Amino acid sequence: SIASTHAKSNGRVLIVGALGFIGHFIAEASLSLGRPTYVLLRPGSAFNNNPAKAAILRALQDKGAIVVNGVINEKESMEKVLKEHEIEIVISAVGGPNILDQLILLEAIKSVGTVKRFLPSEFGHDVDRAEPVEPGLTMYEEKRKVRRMVEESGVPYTNICCNSIASWPYYDNTHPSEVIPPLDKFQIYGDGTVKAYFVAGTDIGRLTMKTVDDVRTINKNIHFRPSCNFYNINELASLWEKKIGKTLPRVTITEDHLLAAAAENCIPESVVASFTHDIFIKGCQINFAIDGSNDVEVGNLYPEETFRTLDECFNDFLLKLEDENPEDGNDDDGDGDGDDEAVSAKTHV
Ligand code: NDP
Repeated sequence: SIASTHAKSNGRVLIVGALGFIGHFIAEASLSLGRPTYVLLRPGSAFNNNPAKAAILRALQDKGAIVVNGVINEKESMEKVLKEHEIEIVISAVGGPNILDQLILLEAIKSVGTVKRFLPSEFGHDVDRAEPVEPGLTMYEEKRKVRRMVEESGVPYTNICCNSIASWPYYDNTHPSEVIPPLDKFQIYGDGTVKAYFVAGTDIGRLTMKTVDDVRTINKNIHFRPSCNFYNINELASLWEKKIGKTLPRVTITEDHLLAAAAENCIPESVVASFTHDIFIKGCQINFAIDGSNDVEVGNLYPEETFRTLDECFNDFLLKLEDENPEDGNDDDGDGDGDDEAVSAKTHV
């Protein structure tokens, strides 16, 4: 039963990076579950001319988030935060440039000795298995270093390997789920047949929160491989064409093109190009079996849980498109029946 797989705890969660792209899904999920949720804020983070972050913060606070000021790369102040608020679970979703800051956070966690679980900032591929070209490799080397230090520390941990966020995987965009899929042409990587797993941000948040006090996830890598969202980029293009009711030209982006974009070493775009190469040319999400003693597939842990389908996520993009172009609303599905799928989709959400 669920009760027997969850350790007794006060459930207090500290989320680092709760205003970030991945972190805000986790914070939302933690609050929805009614957990005592503390969010660590860098001084000035939400207020320095960043209305989007200020809005996320307000929404989290409205749901009960407790704000704590601090930065993870200051050991003493982190010890104080962890002790003062009796934090039992620490989830870090810091971005690429700050991966190594977590080493100081880890020292603080180790020295207070009361944290029952640490989730480092992973939320992508299994960094011990994937080997992207530079500059992505440098980020993976830093994530690997954090993994080794966490293992050595004896602090119980869980690594979330959630694969791709459900959206069009633009090779030059860090946060693709904020961008509508193409409306002019599709850029197809290689022959477009290499498959990947796509997961909605809300599911990343919700399922991450299920693992945090599950005894079966202690010192494990949790892989997200929803079979309903297993697509190659040709199939992704066809799905979107069905939604918008028209076909678009398909342009090939070759392996060499992706490698050249990575080699330009523009950060963060080239990091994304190197991951795109790894996913859609080399197949880094699918070229290994989940059979190690430290590996678990999330669906095996929680068979009762369902994933939002990519089809549903693409409906959201269609609604977003409509909101952005309200005058362009008649028969967008182009099937001549005057029935705009975007409108009918709205009634189903
Ligand atoms: P973001 O850059 O969007 O957010 C990072 C957050 O961490 C920000 O809120 C930032 O604060 C905070 N932060 C950074 N350094 C510190 C520090 N020293 N102390 C306190 N807070 C800090 O990150 P992402 O969401 O893009 O990335 C998070 C993780 O998710 C990464 O590991 C990344 O690789 C992965 N990822 C996975 C994707 C996928 O498709 N699977 C897509 C994107 C990311 P501030 O607001 O002050 O800047």
